[in-house]
Amino acid sequence: MAKTASDSGFAPDWCVHFRSMARHQTCESGIDYTVLNGGSEYRRMYQLPCFIRPGEKPGQRLHCEHFRAPTDEEVALYKQSAEDRESLVKSVKAGIAPWRVQHQGRSHAEIVVCPACKGRLHLSIAAHNGHMKGRCETGGCVNWAE
Ligand SMILES: [Zn+2]
Repeated sequence: MAKTASDSGFAPDWCVHFRSMARHQTCESGIDYTVLNGGSEYRRMYQLPCFIRPGEKPGQRLHCEHFRAPTDEEVALYKQSAEDRESLVKSVKAGIAPWRVQHQGRSHAEIVVCPACKGRLHLSIAAHNGHMKGRCETGGCVNWAE
């Protein structure tokens, strides 16, 4: 869930300051997740207010003065950009379909011209299941793993 420069808007289920607990000790407001949880990592997901779960009682979670839920506009922007990313990945996958057919059944990695932006697209395919990974060097372009 860590946000990058290419992300826009906010996901509906998280405080706007939230970032990956696995990768960060604190949120973007500088709140230490473990400290807020009373100095323990135990059941942080269930006690911290960063997660917005419909149907929960107000006050059920710990209080954080920096908590802010995303606005409807921010959620709409997020959904739009998620859809845009998805359709970009679809069109890139269609563009590299011949590459996939060509390398099916073996493990291979190569940098090809990105069908979306003409940048450098890192492609790899796995022999055992045929799954592909793609990562374009252009910021905001495609990045997927099957
Ligand atoms: Zn690209």
